[in-house]
Amino acid sequence: MSDVRIDDLPVRDELRGKSPYGAPQLDVPVRLNTNENPYPLPEPLVERIAERVREAARGLNRYPDRDAVRLRTELAAYLTKTGKYPLGMANVWAANGSNEVIQQLLQTFGGPGRTAIGFEPSYSMHALIARGTGTGWIPGPRGEDFTIDLAAARRAIAEHRPDVVFITTPNNPTGNAVPPETVLALYEAAQAAKPSMVIVDEAYVEFSHGDSLLPLLAGRPHLVVSRTMSKAFGAAGLRLGYLAADPAVVDAVQLVRLPYHLSAITQATALAALEYTDTLLGYVEQLKSERDRLVAELRAIGYDVTESDANFVQFGRFRDAQDAWRRILDRGVLVRDNGVPGWLRVSAGTPEENDAFLDAVREVKKELE
Ligand code: PMP
Repeated sequence: MSDVRIDDLPVRDELRGKSPYGAPQLDVPVRLNTNENPYPLPEPLVERIAERVREAARGLNRYPDRDAVRLRTELAAYLTKTGKYPLGMANVWAANGSNEVIQQLLQTFGGPGRTAIGFEPSYSMHALIARGTGTGWIPGPRGEDFTIDLAAARRAIAEHRPDVVFITTPNNPTGNAVPPETVLALYEAAQAAKPSMVIVDEAYVEFSHGDSLLPLLAGRPHLVVSRTMSKAFGAAGLRLGYLAADPAVVDAVQLVRLPYHLSAITQATALAALEYTDTLLGYVEQLKSERDRLVAELRAIGYDVTESDANFVQFGRFRDAQDAWRRILDRGVLVRDNGVPGWLRVSAGTPEENDAFLDAVREVKKELE
């Protein structure tokens, strides 16, 4: 072992004393902490992946398709079918998880001397990727009830004139969706202030009661919608995220993407998964009803619950969320403490996992009374 610490190295000043992203990966019976899909991929899809990967393996002596044309074409077809808005390959870009999509967007539109704003609490990686790309981070406001207060958000945009505005809908970790009118108003505010790029992070949109905001792309070249196969497609291990935007945005991110960033294995696997879209969206329907059950039962037990359009639920309030998190973990159930004072977050699991969670929080509630 070495006793050299990070801060002994000549790391960039903005990285000194900071911690990496780190949701605990603990080996407990019920893991409901990272908003994964609890259902393994269906066996016929596993077979299809093996087949397509075998085919791809025969060509691994060559670099993969740098432009991922087939994959982007199929992703565009999926978005067109489900998003009520026609999109083609030229509107879509893919990378290793939506985290990499967001990183490429910040490398392109953020960077040293530039800033990005997000309305917190929200997805913590937006701020971390900003830091990694040398983009200044502005924590924007959110109301007591975790909705975006339009007047306050507009003021923050006018004051800071950020280069990039993040709107996460449905929002993580709170679960609530942002109304389309609010997104439109923030887009207008961002154009008046700078103009800036507005990134709508729709990682969880397939679980929403409402529709995707893809139709807002019409006539708005500074709008980007980012999506992922990690949640609805049950393929977090695949690492496949994508964006939809004006073709000029897709051209712009090519300036920063590493050549051949998306491996032939990844492209083959994602194409196989897209063949099973209907089956996978069937699991989404089950998860949505389990999510609604969690909301109802948590309220019946006596917890406060934030309205959820995602595959997870924010619940509270606890005098000490960290202590409650530990008590739930002691009962074999791992949930997430996102650092929102008084609140915890649980991902919707299988009905059995959700029952185990509900039993645990029922006991914890009694214990804390
Ligand atoms: N956006 C949001 C809001 C998320 O919660 C997550 C994952 N937790 C991501 C993006 C990143 O997902 P991935 O990189 O797996 O596509």
